[in-house]
This record gives sequence, structure tokens and C-alpha cells, in this order.
Amino acid sequence: MSTITSVCVYCGSSPGRDGSFLEAGRKLGNDLARAGLRLVYGAGATGIMNAVATGCLEEGGAVTGIIPRFLINKEAPGSSLDRLDDLILTDDMHQRKHIMFDRSDAFVALPGGIGTLEEIVEIMTWAQLGRHEKPIVFANFSGFWGPMLSLLSHMKAEGFIHSQERVRPLVIDRAEDIVPALTRTGAYSEGDPAIIGRL
Ligand code: AMP
Repeated sequence: MSTITSVCVYCGSSPGRDGSFLEAGRKLGNDLARAGLRLVYGAGATGIMNAVATGCLEEGGAVTGIIPRFLINKEAPGSSLDRLDDLILTDDMHQRKHIMFDRSDAFVALPGGIGTLEEIVEIMTWAQLGRHEKPIVFANFSGFWGPMLSLLSHMKAEGFIHSQERVRPLVIDRAEDIVPALTRTGAYSEGDPAIIGRL
């Protein structure tokens, strides 16, 4: 597994009801910066996306934002894009997702909505098809991803997850355990106590 230098974070453009998710997002941003890892994200200035970027920037971290032009007014209003050291404008969502994938060595899904779900599921499908072996993390704050993990277990039990060995997302409960888990061995180690489960 190659060394991780950039981490893509997928998360809600909304803040969600539980204020601790915003806090955890900001903490993850802080940790990425302190570890010298570049944050790759959707360039949004709203919700949990904003918390992660703010957390990274306030610790002097490097941030790549990738956003389709048509979404700028909605997700990155005003001058919020100016704070990013690397900004990529795309023509559509597909191009955005491809560039986010190319630029990242690992993927983390924080709490989010349909967009977040779509993004992390696509990364898992590409892993299943053998297109990459980059680590995938479900940040399972307050059990947020429980229903999703149950669905994946159900699919597995019913015999619909093929190439199981290729789709092995990490499930990590606490924000502070994510960066150490990704960097400890260049990727992550089996039996890491911070990793509370796998698919
Ligand atoms: P959400 O989790 O719905 O708040 O969305 C989080 C992020 O995912 C936002 O930046 C959305 O623009 C993005 N997003 C929403 N739908 C899609 C999609 N179909 N493909 C890629 N990104 C999306």
C-alpha cells in the first residue's frame, strides 16, 4: 500500500441535527492539517463540509476544493473559495467525482445525506471492481452509519457482495482515531483497536 498524502472527505452539505458532528468534522480537519495530509473535498462552505475545511485551514493545512460551476452559488457562496490553496472548477458532477478520486489516497465518509452516500458507494463499487485499493473509512460517529452497515451486511448475507476481499471499509467511531489509523502503517493495520468493525 502506498503512502497516504491526501485524504478525500465526503460529508453533508447540511450541518445535521447533532451538533457534535460539526465538532467532529472540524476535529478531523485539524488532524489532517497537523499530520501534513492534504484535504480533498467538494469545496463547500456549508454544513459539515465547511467544518472540515475550516478545521484544516485553521491549522495551516492544505485544501483542494473541487466543485462544479453550477453549484458554486449554492454550496460555496460569497468569497469562500478564496481560502482554498487549490481550487478546481468542473463542468459537472461526474468530472468532480473523478478528480476527487484521482487526487486522493484514502476516502472518509462523515455523516451526510444523499450526495455523501452516492459518493462513498461509488468509491466502494470501484474497489469491488478492482479499480483501486485505497482505504475507505466510515466515520461512525454516534452510530450514524449503522443502518448503512446493516444494509451492507444484509447484502453480504444474501450473497450479493462479490469480491468481498476487495471491499473492506474501516468503521471508526471517533474523529481522533481516523488520521492515526490511516497513517500508522502507511495505510492501516489489522487489529487496530480504533477500528471497531469491518464489513
Ligand atoms: P449531501 O450529503 O447530500 O449534503 O451532499 C454532500 C455533497 O455531495 C455536496 O457537495 C453535493 O454537491 C454532493 N453531491 C450530491 N449529489 C451528488 C452526486 N450525484 N454526485 C456527486 N456528488 C454529489
